Amino acid sequence: MGALEDLVASHLGGFSPEGGVHLPNTPGYDACLLAAGAANYACLHERRRPPVALQPARESDVVLAVRFVTAGIERGLWPDGGRVDGSPDGHDDGVPLTLCGGGHSELCVRNGAVLVHFGRMASVSCDPAGRTVTIAPGALLGAMNEAAQNHGLAVPTGVFAGVGVGSILAGGIGRLARARGLSVQSVVAMRVVTADGEIHALGEGVDMNGLERDLWWGCRGAAAALGVVTSVTLRAAPIAPAISHGRRIYPPFANAADAADRLRRIETIARACPEATQVDVCVARAGGAAAARGGVRIGVFPCATDGGDVPADVVAGLEMTPRHVTRSRYCDVPYHSMLPDDERDDESAPGDDESAPGDDGTPSQATPGMFSYVRQWFVDELGEIGAAAVAAAAAAAPTDESLVMMQHAGGAVRRGGRPADDDDAPDDDDDLDGAGALAFPHRRWEWSVVIIALWTDPGSRARATAEAWADDAFESLRGCGVGCYAVDIDRFRRSGDAAEEEVKLAFGEVNAARLRELKRWVDPTNVFAAAVPL
Ligand SMILES: Cc1cc2nc3c(=O)[nH]c(=O)nc-3n(C[C@H](O)[C@H](O)[C@H](O)COP(=O)(O)OP(=O)(O)OC[C@H]3O[C@@H](n4cnc5c(N)ncnc54)[C@H](O)[C@@H]3O)c2cc1C
Repeated sequence: MGALEDLVASHLGGFSPEGGVHLPNTPGYDACLLAAGAANYACLHERRRPPVALQPARESDVVLAVRFVTAGIERGLWPDGGRVDGSPDGHDDGVPLTLCGGGHSELCVRNGAVLVHFGRMASVSCDPAGRTVTIAPGALLGAMNEAAQNHGLAVPTGVFAGVGVGSILAGGIGRLARARGLSVQSVVAMRVVTADGEIHALGEGVDMNGLERDLWWGCRGAAAALGVVTSVTLRAAPIAPAISHGRRIYPPFANAADAADRLRRIETIARACPEATQVDVCVARAGGAAAARGGVRIGVFPCATDGGDVPADVVAGLEMTPRHVTRSRYCDVPYHSMLPDDERDDESAPGDDESAPGDDGTPSQATPGMFSYVRQWFVDELGEIGAAAVAAAAAAAPTDESLVMMQHAGGAVRRGGRPADDDDAPDDDDDLDGAGALAFPHRRWEWSVVIIALWTDPGSRARATAEAWADDAFESLRGCGVGCYAVDIDRFRRSGDAAEEEVKLAFGEVNAARLRELKRWVDPTNVFAAAVPL
């Protein structure tokens, strides 16, 4: 028996019968890798090979999995010893463990790292009396939104139904951001397994020791670097049976300057919106001949989450007609789509499309065959310079699918997730940039500007071109940015210096230092090295 098999036998024998322990070259292993790579094509395309793939079904399995990885580090099994037959060139990525929830980041499967895939821990429960929703680490946002809506409730979540718990732990920016804040600002409890295999119950009103109080702070923003979260509970609030939302893709703008003018007008309207209404925006290059001439497409996606209509002055200001607006259950509002093209768009209202949310044919990072690379800034006000930079970036996009997505917030995000009518809400300017109650620090922003490079050509040149475009666009917005979203820090695709700078931009210097100190206590051997390079 080899050292790996030996460790499996000694540490994973107690795995629950519903769970899965899969060694390479077994059907269970292949199926697990297929499931883990389903939302992120690069993991499949590169044939990334973990030494073992684990599918816990219970929290006790997670404890065994973490102890197994820790024991492997003590025995020198990985990262250096974690090689498996069939990995591309026998190399590994130098991390011992990856976690795969929704599987939307490229951090969820790495060569040589034990894979923990949460597909068998995907429960969601809603407590209508207590107005909370609790999810297991394999649950997806769509299922969570559906479970809450079935009780007339909603929690703030990201806009893509297939995304998982990784988004909630790092931030969670979606359609309720302006009215109710981010997912992470609504988290009221979680359970975490740390590198020593201990389980910690954390949350509001929970009796916690000093270390746990620090963990409770750190896990709301940087959980991926500190432990394995086995359940998360979020505060829910009533939502109308159907909410008003719209979509308009303007005819292509001839050049970046014209598109920038329109973006400025959209920004003025968006900033003046009542808090129940937000206006997300997508900007891409115009297709066909217009692309060669530097044309730009802009789509606007207003949404009113209080049960009322998107205000008439917002509809008119965005040059929409009532035909561009419809109503759906909150959990059914589709993902932002720049498809179909302009002509078809003028004939179809949003909601005509009967396909599932998040699965409407819109190219995204989750599309099979699609490669992606993402950079992001939080921006308080684009102004002329920012609008020009976004429009110029879109005009120069390397592919038709690439885009700059501007997710709108302000409002409740500035109050730490408290709605406007909450008497306990701190003043707007309280603790806007300080360390605050949670590790996620950013509250002074109106836009999350997400630069998304998408391409299908597997060649290294296409990849280099796409990544250079996103990096250049990121740099062009540097003067406007107030910080970054930790979710997109990819230490495998940034230089060490760039990743370190991004950690500071994501958490601020004070929080980054506090997180590093906390990590030294709870993860001294860097079991959770794959994400958030602290
Ligand atoms: C198409 C698409 C649309 C998106 N839209 C939005 C959006 O509207 N708003 C938004 O905020 N973000 C959005 N994102 C970004 C998304 O939030 C991140 O990609 C997020 O990391 C995905 O989480 P996941 O669970 O799906 O991914 P995974 O790759 O499974 O996990 C992501 C990270 O979380 C960590 N993690 C996962 N599970 C656990 C756990 N149980 N305990 C501790 N750490 C864990 C992993 O280690 C990994 O580093 C979008 C991404 C895509 C691809």
